[in-house]
Formats: sequence, C-alpha cells, structure tokens
Amino acid sequence: MIARDRIARFRAAEEDVFRDRFAASGRVADGAAAHWHDGVPFHWMRDWPSPWPLVADHAVGATLTTVDGVTLDDFCLGDTASMFGHAPPPVAAALAAQAPRGFSYMLPMEAGLDVSARLAAIFGHPYWQVTSTASEANRAVIRWCRAITGRRKILIFNGAYHGAVDDAFVDLRGGVPTMRTSLLGQVADMRDTTLVIEFNDVAALDVALARGDVACVLAEPVMTNVGMVMPDAGFLDHVRAAATRTGTILVWDETHTVSSGLGGHGKAHGPLGDMVVVGKAIAGGMPTAVYGFTANVAARMAAANAARTGGHSGIGTTLSANALAMAAMRAMLTNVMTAENYAAMLAGADRLVAGLRRVIAAHGLDWQVAHVGARVEFITSGAPIRNGSDARAAMDGELDGAIHLGLVNRGLLLAPFHNMALVSPVTSDAQIDRLADGLDAVLTALLGA
Ligand code: PMP
Repeated sequence: MIARDRIARFRAAEEDVFRDRFAASGRVADGAAAHWHDGVPFHWMRDWPSPWPLVADHAVGATLTTVDGVTLDDFCLGDTASMFGHAPPPVAAALAAQAPRGFSYMLPMEAGLDVSARLAAIFGHPYWQVTSTASEANRAVIRWCRAITGRRKILIFNGAYHGAVDDAFVDLRGGVPTMRTSLLGQVADMRDTTLVIEFNDVAALDVALARGDVACVLAEPVMTNVGMVMPDAGFLDHVRAAATRTGTILVWDETHTVSSGLGGHGKAHGPLGDMVVVGKAIAGGMPTAVYGFTANVAARMAAANAARTGGHSGIGTTLSANALAMAAMRAMLTNVMTAENYAAMLAGADRLVAGLRRVIAAHGLDWQVAHVGARVEFITSGAPIRNGSDARAAMDGELDGAIHLGLVNRGLLLAPFHNMALVSPVTSDAQIDRLADGLDAVLTALLGA
C-alpha cells in the first residue's frame, strides 16, 4: 500500500511538469471551452488524469504526436480502436481509393463478398452483420437472442462492460443486483430481465441457466473492463456446455479479446460461442463493428424476421456497412489482421509482461501483470482476482491516475480508465522497453516522494 500523501505529492509535481510540457494542448483546451460542452467534443475525452486532455495532432503506427510537438509511445491506441497501429498503410490506401467513389449508399457493394468470406474464415462463424459500433452490435445481438428464443432474460458477469447497452449495466454489490450507480438518465430497472453473477462462479451459472428462461449469456471470455479477470481452467468450457444444455445462446463479446490471437479468444483458444461481436479495431478504428453467428442462429433469425409484422425492427442504424467502413474492413481483414501480425503482437506483449514484472519485483511490490494476447494490464494489488468484485476491490483510481500522468510526462500513453497497454504489430521492442523503464522511473519517483 503506497501512502496517500506520497501519491498526492508525486501527482502535484507531475501536474506541474505536464502544464509546462503540454502548454499548447492547454491553450487549445481553453479555446475549446467556448463551444464544446465541457471543453471536448465527446465527454469521455475529459476522463484522462491530466489537468487538461492532450490535444492530438496526428498518430501513425504506435506513436501519437500532440499539438505541443511531443511524440508519445502510444500503448492506448485509441482504447483498442487502433490496436493494429494508427493508420495502417493498407487501410489508409483503401480509404483514399474509396473516398472519391462515395461514402454511404445504404446498398451492398461487391467488396462485401470478400469481407464476409474473410470474416467467416478468420472468426469461424458462417453468417455476419455489420453495425457502426460494438455497443450497437451488442444491442442488436441481445434483441436477436430474445426474438429467436422467446426468452426475456439475459445473463452477464459482474463488472462487465459491453458498451452503452442499458441491459448490461447491472452490478452485483455485496451479492445484491444493483443498477450501475454511475449511469446518467437511466430510468428503467433492468434487474427483472438482466441476471448478474460473478465470473468463474460455476454453481451460480448452473442455477441461473437451469430455469430455461435466459435468452443469452453475453460475456467477454476474459474480463477486460474491470482490470483483467482471467477464466479459471475449464470455466469457459463449462459456460459453453451449460448454454448448450439449456438452449441459451452464448455470445462472446470479443471487442477487446480480439487481442488474443487471430479470430479472437473463441477461435484461438476455444470454445466458440453461438454468436460473436467484434468492434473497435475491426476496421482499424473507422466506426465499424460486426456480429457473426452459426447457421442454426441464422435460420432462427430468418424465421423470426419472417414472422414479424412490417415496420421497424429496432435493429440497425443508417450508416451501418457504409462504403468507407467496408473498404477499411476489407483492408484490415486482408492485410492487417494476419497471423504474422498477431505473432509480432504476442511476442511484443510477452516482452512487455516480462519487463513490467521485472520492474514491479525490483521495487518490492506484489503487483500482478495479466494479459490476454496483445492486451497487457498491470494491477496494483497482489490479492487473488477471480471475479468482478475482487477486481474492483483491487483497483486504486488515485494511484492509477498518478502513474498514468507520470508516464505521459515520460512520453508514454496508457489507456485512461485502467492500467492497460496494447502492443500493436508495429510497436517496437525499443518502445516496449521504454514503457518498462518509464514505469521504473515513475515508481522510483513515487516511492521516494
Ligand atoms: N464491448 C466491450 C467488451 C468493450 O470493451 C466496449 C468498449 N470499451 C464495447 C463493447 C463498446 O464499444 P464502443 O464504445 O465502440 O461501442
């Protein structure tokens, strides 16, 4: 446990450094306050632990350059959207080629044939649909699952995040289901239709599914939004078997765990779900997501669609599968999401894990480093973490914020919400070593503050 006054002293010193080094960002942030609500075009952009947000000038490969002229080693990578590096040349070229030919038609394109075949080959599901975000894909999937099973309930794991999806904002607090307390403007109580249990709790899962009234289990195979929670050996197979036994549709949300390997966690490590969602990086950071499913699910979706009255289905938005998105996705699936690139990412992540563990040990700390493929998370606690409650208890927002700010001042960018670093295929060993060295420097200053 690091003393609070030490963290506060370190943070104050780092804020001074930040204000000086990123003064140009500060000037833009001041100007932006005139007409952007809260000074930013999207309010999450305020959620960085710095006095003001860094203002981006451009980002290429695994670096991001701010308007201050500072180039950072980028391990945030757009919080996964740019997980394969910023502006991969094949994607940039595909967008440039498509742009003069139109952006959005609300019609399919011939290029879609290739995209769908590649999705099927890479992720192992025969049928696909496109949305603009992973949130939207999850909302669509929940509706489809309810429509085809005739069941109202869904099941999620405590601490999950599946995007801006009301159904998935139910927590377990002290064993009691609770609507997530931080939500704005949430009026519906989802607890009647959303069941929440702890990850790795086999007995609770069996009880929850045994009644046969759950449409789908919606889950990440490794929880990545509450620190990182790894599945116990055999847990995912148990989830798979319980879903099959009870006629429950198993949906893997692989928006983050696509970092596991080619085809995501389900394809790389098994078991496959009945449906899969992949967003963010699937089109290299262009707003696009996809959901895939088995032939059985597809047939049931077609039957449900044929049986309904005409009019709005409540599934889909206008810009889904637009021409730019399809062009970007085709280039990603053809030239960027490749076995070679995954090999480079996984090797880099191993190097980073070893480096972080070495630094943590050198400072005599009991912290842990978890990773799911190219996604690496250090956790500032030594307590065992088997579920969302453990993970929440292990988190220390004040400490995390201080470390992040210290790293930014040393030219290193982590994701803002937790201690997550992504290794892209174009992240160099030198960058990886700089992150380990940067953490070393931050811990030296912090522990000595
Ligand atoms: N699913 C998971 C697992 C996520 O982590 C996120 C975002 N962090 C989403 C879905 C939603 O993605 P988006 O914000 O792009 O809709």
